[in-house]
Amino acid sequence: MNGIRYSLVVPLYNEEAVIEACHQRLTAVLDSLDGNWEIIYVNDGSRDRTGQLARQLCQTDPRVKLLTFSRNFGHQCAITAGMDHAAGDAVIIIDADLQDPPELIPQMIAAWQAGADVVYGHRVARKGETAAKKLSARLYYRLLRRITDVDIPVDVGDFRLIDARVCAALSALPEHNRYVRGLISWLGFSQTYIDYIRAPRFAGETKYPLRKMVKLALDGITSFSYKPLKLGIGIGIGLSICSFLFLLFVFVARLFDLVVMEPGYASLMCVILFFCGIILVMLGIIGEYIGRIFEEVKGRPLYIICDREGQFARQGRDQAMTQR
Ligand code: UDP
Ligand code: MG
Repeated sequence: MNGIRYSLVVPLYNEEAVIEACHQRLTAVLDSLDGNWEIIYVNDGSRDRTGQLARQLCQTDPRVKLLTFSRNFGHQCAITAGMDHAAGDAVIIIDADLQDPPELIPQMIAAWQAGADVVYGHRVARKGETAAKKLSARLYYRLLRRITDVDIPVDVGDFRLIDARVCAALSALPEHNRYVRGLISWLGFSQTYIDYIRAPRFAGETKYPLRKMVKLALDGITSFSYKPLKLGIGIGIGLSICSFLFLLFVFVARLFDLVVMEPGYASLMCVILFFCGIILVMLGIIGEYIGRIFEEVKGRPLYIICDREGQFARQGRDQAMTQR
């Protein structure tokens, strides 16, 4: 056995239905590898038996570790905590629901050994997901790519292998509204991908309701682009030109009595409502950014760990947290 160490980071939120099957499939793949491994489960404030089941897995195998959050901080914070504590030469992030097949890990490792620092899984198809989710994901990734200045690949989730150097660089980034896949693209390094078909969820339901999905989508856009803010300038200039032309038309028409002027309640209302609508939308966009600036300024930790199980070779960013 060579001395390479692999760390697996698995976020868990109410995953009692899948955790055992997930663990079996992960260990089967890891045991077939040439090297040492650790699995870091991150219990993101689950309210079911996930924590209990994960603790049992830790007790049967010292290579299995568990970080427990004090509440639900969200998927992106969960994988960040796992990566902050991962001591491997290569770190692999994978969902617990087996939508991302663990059997691809050896292929990712081969690409890493061939020199890539980041190997991400590119979804060529998604199974067991609603048509609306597939369509919105498809459109979103393309929009994101179009409006951001960072080269964020399309149809790619957080299932990926990253080198320890990338993991350390990522841990040094302090931002709160994290869009991890975007941050990894922003970091650079040599990146490659392997295609895969995203399987349906093994059991249970998605832990990403619309609210969380919209938050993640907005984080992706606002963290990497301020083009939406510039939209206001574009619309403003366009509308000013239109209204100036209209003004000119009204002036000339009045001067030469070209059209009979009626008291124009309807047209006035249209103009007022239209402009108010645009102003409110722009205020909303500005609000989204200001809200995020507010989050960053407060400087609170990204996550709070209330319990750890197992020996961690690397400590995360939460130095002063309670250790039982
Ligand atoms: N997850 C989490 N915290 C959350 C939501 C999800 O840790 O607040 C985990 C979840 O347990 C799973 C992964 O993130 O391992 C992906 O979630 P899910 O499969 O529900 O998302 P989907 O694949 O439906 O987008
Ligand atoms: Mg899933």
